[in-house]
Amino acid sequence: MKEKLQKIRENAIAQIREAKNLNTLNDARVAILGKKGELTSVLKSMKDVAPEDRPKVGQLVNETREEIEKVLEEAKAKMEAMVREEKLKAEVIDVTLPAKKNNVGHRHPNTIALEEVERIFIGMGYEVVEGPEIEYDLYNFEKLNIPEGHPAKDEQDTFYINKNIVLRTQTSPCQARVMEQGKLPIRMIAPGRVFRSDEVDATHSPSFHQIEGLVVDKNITFADLKGTLEEFAKELFGAETKTKFRPHHFPFTEPSAEVDVSCFKCGGKGCRFCKGSGWIEILGCGMVHPHVLEMCGIDPNEYTGFAFGVGLERIALLKYEIDDMRLLYENDIRFLKQF
Ligand SMILES: [Zn+2]
Repeated sequence: MKEKLQKIRENAIAQIREAKNLNTLNDARVAILGKKGELTSVLKSMKDVAPEDRPKVGQLVNETREEIEKVLEEAKAKMEAMVREEKLKAEVIDVTLPAKKNNVGHRHPNTIALEEVERIFIGMGYEVVEGPEIEYDLYNFEKLNIPEGHPAKDEQDTFYINKNIVLRTQTSPCQARVMEQGKLPIRMIAPGRVFRSDEVDATHSPSFHQIEGLVVDKNITFADLKGTLEEFAKELFGAETKTKFRPHHFPFTEPSAEVDVSCFKCGGKGCRFCKGSGWIEILGCGMVHPHVLEMCGIDPNEYTGFAFGVGLERIALLKYEIDDMRLLYENDIRFLKQF
């Protein structure tokens, strides 16, 4: 029996050494240790061994089994290491291949336009201020010189939550809130969503965005307003851009003006884009009404200021030559992908 086991052991080790890959190694394991394996058959024949010899034979069988298993494990580990190494060699990364494009989407035209406007004004020393979209009538109207009975307060123009609370119709309430804090001088822009009771069409929406600016300091004049907005127009539409100020009326500024920029498409000659006039209306502005300063706790005899407001969508539409505002809100991927 001892000799038989010795022979099995030698055969097994030889078989393991001969195995060329993990499959043949596994075949060898099954042939030796498996259910129908040589060693298993020895165990099965234990019944023919004299009872007094069985413990000794059993021990021998176990020792042989352990030895074969050890050799098997070593061979397997060696082979797996080889396979891994070959795999690594075969999978060398070619760093010169073009990278796989990671499609993470991009910003909305409104956001691009907003960031551009913010960049320009931050460059001129302005602060960007945000405020609540649901606002007190007091801040949205009263403090901006729009008293009870003013047509702008009509329910046809404004969404009322109740008698005293509205969805803000402009971002100017942010300006009233900042002025009230009394920290002077002020140089700020207030971008954000505003709401008007409008029907949706190519140029109107019940919800759109405004960027309003405010400067309050000593000795601020209309010349500062003009210079600032001229610079803004040149930064936004190109160095050749001219500006034109037309008298206008706003309740919170006096005097007030509307500003046109020379058409950046035709340079002012007149084209389809500017409807032949050579000019494009871009924003409203004016010197802050002394009454507004007063209501917000600022002495109009000591301080003056200017304010302006521009529609964000208007800039996005002009900048990208989009002819229908609704496209900006419909989230049509085919449209948005173009920017
Ligand atoms: Zn034009």
